[in-house]
Amino acid sequence: MRERAEPAECAAVVKANAYGTGSARVVPALAAAGCGTFFVALPEEGAEVRAAAPEAAIYVLDGFLPGLGDSYRRYALRPVLGSPEEIAEFARWRSGERSALHVDTGMNRLGLRMEELTALSRDDLERAGTGLLMSHLACADEPEHALNERQRERFASMRERFPDLPASFANSAGVFLGDSYLHDLARPGIALYGGASHPDARMEPVVTAEALIVQVREARRGETVGYGAAETLTRDSRIAIAAAGYADGYLRAEGIRDGHDGGEVSVAGARTPLLGRVSMDLIAIDVTDLPNVERGGRVELFGPEMLIDDVAERGGTIAYELLTGLSRRAERVYVGGADG
Ligand SMILES: *Cc1c(COP(=O)(O)O)cnc(C)c1O
Repeated sequence: MRERAEPAECAAVVKANAYGTGSARVVPALAAAGCGTFFVALPEEGAEVRAAAPEAAIYVLDGFLPGLGDSYRRYALRPVLGSPEEIAEFARWRSGERSALHVDTGMNRLGLRMEELTALSRDDLERAGTGLLMSHLACADEPEHALNERQRERFASMRERFPDLPASFANSAGVFLGDSYLHDLARPGIALYGGASHPDARMEPVVTAEALIVQVREARRGETVGYGAAETLTRDSRIAIAAAGYADGYLRAEGIRDGHDGGEVSVAGARTPLLGRVSMDLIAIDVTDLPNVERGGRVELFGPEMLIDDVAERGGTIAYELLTGLSRRAERVYVGGADG
């Protein structure tokens, strides 16, 4: 992503515990790879990032949260300010702390509207310690969407108001939209964790979710499997039971449900169907055609064989939700990174 973003600087978005992957390990790895700027959503996340990256610039996307000023000071966090009230509040509170200014170009979530930006003076920005102008794309993952170009034009005209301020516009998908979206600082999140960010560009898988097989059993044609007896076996079957379920963040929607077939998992490199519903702690998998599957083996829920975007889509969601929904119970094992 750094190379793709050049000559812009490439920051890393590590909100929500680095999209569920674990900031304490992921931030030092990103810092060791040369990343000097991080974005989080909340000040408490910023405090964690500060512990892992003492020298970095850390921006808080949700802004200057009422009543939490101490954290911004203690951890040198930079709020991304998105309304006139918030700018004024931060300007009154600060003693040297820096900030970014968020302008809205079509998302209608956070950020100043054009008329609010026009009402700001250079002195106002000075008082708020503003060092970055940013906006966020609503449809970057759909390159043909007309809103992309409209937002780019609006951002360009908003930049004219304060042309000296460095600017940041592109999330992961925005980086793939073209050079005119890059500006000075790119802000990828999902691409760093292996989520697809462009229809033609698959990212390398980063996270593999696996479950341990705790039992392999036989069942007869005509019997049913799991809650609700939702699956009826159409042949004599071998079933592997693996220790993962919706309490781990593996979506119940991956299993059989009204009007939907169940999804698949990968066992020893072969895709094979789930049987019945996903329970809280367990899934059932058809291994009738896979004679070597045994207790103690592993099942891939998503990873190199089962791409996270495809698995998410099957469950009616997006890779972001699958990653951030991985629960505490799912043990994280890190390979490589800052300390090997
Ligand atoms: C989450 C977020 C990003 C990162 O988006 P990805 O699609 O994960 O790359 C960038 N900017 C803002 C404002 C965000 O909220």
